[in-house]
Amino acid sequence: LNRYDMSLDGGDGGGITEAFKADSFDKKINLGVGAYRDDQGKPYVLPSVRKAEEKVIASRLNKEYAGITGVPEFTKAAAVLAYGKDSTALNRLAITQSISGTGALRIGGAFLARHFPGAKTIYIPTPSWANHAAVFKDSGLTVEKYSYYNKDTIGLDFEGMLADIKAAPEGSIFLFHACAHNPTGVDPTPEQWKQIEAAVKSRGHFSFFDMAYQGFASGNIDTDAFAVRYFVEQGHNVALAQSFAKNMGLYGERVGAFSLVCADAAEAKRVDSQVKILVRPMYSNPPIHGARIAAEILNSPELYGQWLGEVKGMADRIITMRALLKENLEKLGSKHDWSHITSQIGMFAYTGLTPEEMDKLAKEFSVYATRDGRISVAGITSENVGRLAESIFKVKG
Ligand code: PMP
Repeated sequence: LNRYDMSLDGGDGGGITEAFKADSFDKKINLGVGAYRDDQGKPYVLPSVRKAEEKVIASRLNKEYAGITGVPEFTKAAAVLAYGKDSTALNRLAITQSISGTGALRIGGAFLARHFPGAKTIYIPTPSWANHAAVFKDSGLTVEKYSYYNKDTIGLDFEGMLADIKAAPEGSIFLFHACAHNPTGVDPTPEQWKQIEAAVKSRGHFSFFDMAYQGFASGNIDTDAFAVRYFVEQGHNVALAQSFAKNMGLYGERVGAFSLVCADAAEAKRVDSQVKILVRPMYSNPPIHGARIAAEILNSPELYGQWLGEVKGMADRIITMRALLKENLEKLGSKHDWSHITSQIGMFAYTGLTPEEMDKLAKEFSVYATRDGRISVAGITSENVGRLAESIFKVKG
């Protein structure tokens, strides 16, 4: 068994972290972590989150249960963040707080397994976040794949993706990564999203968006929400999973939301009632602390402004590290085209390195990441980027 096989850790670093810990080399590099690190390689608590948390604590609220669908000040604000404050979706939306993005996907999966008319098949991209297939299978859906990544171009297989959308039986469910596709970092352009939307509509498919990185990809909340908002504008009643793990750094607080855009307010009310029937026997009601922190940020103009700046700061550091890595590889004289490192977006970069090359990186250079060639750009710092580029250059040329 390979200790840094992504299947062991859901793609987010559990197995890699173990191998990393066991390595005694002091300049070892861990690029398997699915969490943001600052330029010193340390976990980062956003100052806006610290401030919001202090406010929450100072208000000395009681610890009684939230309702089944969570803290209303949070879910209302989360909906505005995702769909936009002027969205027509807001007054016909069923939304529930969830155990972060994973929980949102699970509630959505269970809702569709119970209520979606026709074949309960969900199509996910190849590849996708390692947990998607498991979440949807365990929710009772049948999981199929659609083409997404082209390993020859280290980019989007746009033709393949469109062909698969058109070939799927009418009325299928399609899961899209709203932005910062994990693990590839490859996103469709706005123009490509428009064509994807047209293909989805022509086949009467249902769209389920997983938005785990809003703001974190481009540094701009609205840019990253483009696909979701465009689909809604074009008349799709989408499902959406939101996570505040990355963009607020609330990982372990488990803050997220699942929402479904409905035909009208009356339908939203019925859906809300069905969501409650689903959630109640799963976990009764969600945790309150993280949702209160997020609500504090989203509902206070001052904290909201500060938070936007901090999200952009994280996104910009990642974009800078991508550029530095590429620049260093080119300076070393690498003959490969590394432009995909800077054209990809979000926390992860798909390097195009093979599993064997990734093994070599770990064994000979103490650089740890998943064997699919995905590196967490959040683990790169101004200090380690030079040695990282050298290691990749020695393995790949
Ligand atoms: N979807 C995607 C695409 C992700 O990358 C992640 C985080 N790794 C999640 C959902 C869920 O994360 P969480 O449950 O921590 O919000």
